[in-house]
Amino acid sequence: MRLVIVKEAAVGETRVALLPDAIKNLIAKGLEVAVEAGAGLASGIADEAYTLAGATLSTDRTALLASADILPLVNAPAAEDQRKIKSGCVAIGFFRPLDEPTGLLPAIESGVTLFAVELVPRITRAQAMDALSSMATVAGYKAVILAANTLPRLFPMLMTAAGTIAPARVFVIGAGVAGLQAIATARRLGAVVEAYDVRAAAGEQVRSLGAKFLDVDLGGLATEDKGGYAKELSEEALERGRDLIARTAKTADVIITTAQVPGRRSPLLIRRDAVENMRPGTVLVDLAAAGGGNCELTKPGETQVHNGVTLFAPLNLPTTVPGHSSQLYSRNIANFLALIVKDGALNLNMQDEILSGSCVAHQGKVVNPRVASALEALAVSQ
Ligand code: NAD
Repeated sequence: MRLVIVKEAAVGETRVALLPDAIKNLIAKGLEVAVEAGAGLASGIADEAYTLAGATLSTDRTALLASADILPLVNAPAAEDQRKIKSGCVAIGFFRPLDEPTGLLPAIESGVTLFAVELVPRITRAQAMDALSSMATVAGYKAVILAANTLPRLFPMLMTAAGTIAPARVFVIGAGVAGLQAIATARRLGAVVEAYDVRAAAGEQVRSLGAKFLDVDLGGLATEDKGGYAKELSEEALERGRDLIARTAKTADVIITTAQVPGRRSPLLIRRDAVENMRPGTVLVDLAAAGGGNCELTKPGETQVHNGVTLFAPLNLPTTVPGHSSQLYSRNIANFLALIVKDGALNLNMQDEILSGSCVAHQGKVVNPRVASALEALAVSQ
């Protein structure tokens, strides 16, 4: 059974799917591992580290793809690469199956079994495989660093002979995994932090990090689904949130927005007029940009300055911290592999809810109903 690691080909991608320590364990379990030369370089992993772990090295990407039985990836490969993968190979990665399902068709048609890490159910047993949380942790941290690096002020309160410097005021919108990490990072740098989330349960977590939780009266509306995720809100409920956000943002130095509703466009929470009422020098980082953004002015992937307010809309902050992003991702992938590799062979128990939940395609067929409907909707609209 051959596991292959290739160098990620997407522009700007710096992460690698598996690190040498994970490979060592897989080889001990009876797998043969082959790595494309240079696969880990951008994450600070030399080729020798892979060979020392027991992998073989190759520069022949086509042969590597064609020989893989198991193919852990960060992103979906380009169509041309997908066609080189053999039927029956099991590929795992951030495949964006609901955002770009047609991009996966070449692999599906080739009979590749695809598991999307985005679809791994967020149940307790799957926590160690939760790559979304791993990347959200890195993104939340890095958003604060990005803001601190741009803010024309310092974060901590300083008492100096030349006078006292007031601490920065940071406002975090959406206190999920990324938001909580942003709060913790901003607090460590000495900022005064306020946070808002529609889930009341987030309040306790926010307060435990030393930040103030801002409540909005949503008239007893249910804001959470049974899985603990935010629901899509009515326009009226969203408007109440927007008012609170506009008022708080007026006096904030940094605003980090992370609000998402799984499977939906990111909720629009910061209107143009709210940005225009912010103080010049304010920095806004819209971490929900990939889902359309929480701010009306957000242009995903672009940085703008509007009336003196800097608006960041990064699409992939984890790639700016490739060493630790790869380390966390590699651990998530290794834990997923432990579920599907037994005694050196593939053992796909499709009754397991982690596998059935995350499988996009198997034996040439799309098996995930949401992906199948997304593909059908696209076919109808064409
Ligand atoms: P997410 O990325 O889907 O959303 C980020 C945050 O935005 C959430 O906290 C959400 O409530 C908030 N939000 C949505 N709409 C909003 C609005 N209109 N206004 C303000 N905030 C809004 O969420 P996530 O970070 O992936 O996780 C959300 C929840 O799931 C958290 O409770 C987290 O602890 C939980 N979780 C559980 C597991 C697990 O059990 N394995 C793993 C990860 C996350």
